Amino acid sequence: MNLILFGPPAAGKGTQAKRLVESRKMVQLSTGDMLRAAIASGSELGKRVEGVMQRGELVTDEIVIALIEERLPEAEAAGGAIFDGFPRTLAQAKALDEMLAKRGSRIDLVLRLKVDDEQLLNRVAGRFAESGRPDDNPESFKVRLSAYNDQTAPLLPYYQDQEKLVELDGMGSIEDVAAGIDQALKA
Ligand code: ADP
Repeated sequence: MNLILFGPPAAGKGTQAKRLVESRKMVQLSTGDMLRAAIASGSELGKRVEGVMQRGELVTDEIVIALIEERLPEAEAAGGAIFDGFPRTLAQAKALDEMLAKRGSRIDLVLRLKVDDEQLLNRVAGRFAESGRPDDNPESFKVRLSAYNDQTAPLLPYYQDQEKLVELDGMGSIEDVAAGIDQALKA
């Protein structure tokens, strides 16, 4: 089974993905994590994306599509992928559908975590103080939120038309959201 965890930055996608990895032995494919690893390693790719990420803008479709494609065999071997932070544009969504179709596979479900902007801003303020993730600063976070609203939210009708979209309340505790996800996966 292949799942997309969909939602704005700081909605809790990464937290829930990690839980599903443990409980269902699926593979988490987080383009954000892959890009941060590239920066940490000092690679050419890392140098190319560092500034863009720090400002809160999206890196190019070409880069993230290639990162995902590399990891599909591993996810397939594990029995499924949890896409976290990918796709973020319509071009990425279409590329993902094509890459999976080529492998005789597909997206089964898109779980949307709904969290309102005020709570997102509160969460990320707390997280910035703790983690110091450079793109969690208030200015960059605003850019990330507009990138979500302008470029990523338009994917919702795309998945709705494919009848794959399930909307979940992402405002509760980690356990409440986890329970909502389990319910959706059972149904
Ligand atoms: P969050 O969901 O909290 O915003 P991520 O770790 O998913 O954090 O992403 C961090 C940053 O990495 C994004 O703001 C963007 O610059 C870059 N990024 C991650 N995934 C993508 C993607 N699919 N397309 C373009 N840029 C991406």
